[in-house]
Amino acid sequence: MRLLCVTAHPDDEAASFGGSLRLYHERGIETAVLCLTPGQAASNRGPARNDQELSAIRRQELAASCALLGVSRHLVLDYSDSKLHRLDLYAVVEAVTRYLRDFRPHVMLTFGPEGAVTGHTDHSMASVFTSLAFEWAARSNRYPDHFTQGLQPHRAQKLYYATANFTLPGRPPIAPAPTTAVIQIGDYLQTKIAAFQAHTTQAPVFPTVIPAILARGREERFHLAAASEPSDLRMETDLFEGIRQDG
Ligand SMILES: [Zn+2]
Repeated sequence: MRLLCVTAHPDDEAASFGGSLRLYHERGIETAVLCLTPGQAASNRGPARNDQELSAIRRQELAASCALLGVSRHLVLDYSDSKLHRLDLYAVVEAVTRYLRDFRPHVMLTFGPEGAVTGHTDHSMASVFTSLAFEWAARSNRYPDHFTQGLQPHRAQKLYYATANFTLPGRPPIAPAPTTAVIQIGDYLQTKIAAFQAHTTQAPVFPTVIPAILARGREERFHLAAASEPSDLRMETDLFEGIRQDG
């Protein structure tokens, strides 16, 4: 079975989803990360002299992080960091839908519209694009040109938003989605921190971000935002609960 995680910046995959990505890899799930920007607007830039150099370095850092997390495949798109809200919505959803129809995940992960604990606008937009792609990938009247390129409609079974049971001091107000799934990541907490530290250009933020990762403890929290089978909400401990192999 397959799990797709859609993020906005290199390092999101580790900080917000890393424990679950590694856990499901260990359970035999094929995992993928689609990152919408190469993170070229970061204030911490390592040795990079311009945006192109920073993009190239951060793509390598993402590859190193994904290797630690056991991610089967990853792709970084070329959208501009911190400008996702300026883009043409239908065009970006097309790119996410194309990836979805190719990888054909059973379960999808992204941020909530609040933008995660940082409230970053790019995280919010990743949520919007991914939520629409989750719905539209299954519909034959959306992006039908895909079907002349070897792709078929695909209906993923569940969409989860990452969420948290805390907020960060000094950040803009956020209204996170309530937790409906708690995933115990155990010692993969250490793997997740190591994957975050693979983003070496971001070393100046390690002292602030790693305590936030530790604040989540050995668990990651999610909100079931959509499911192909209508159901009542209940607490889950497994993102693949009720998932059909042939779906
Ligand atoms: Zn981010």
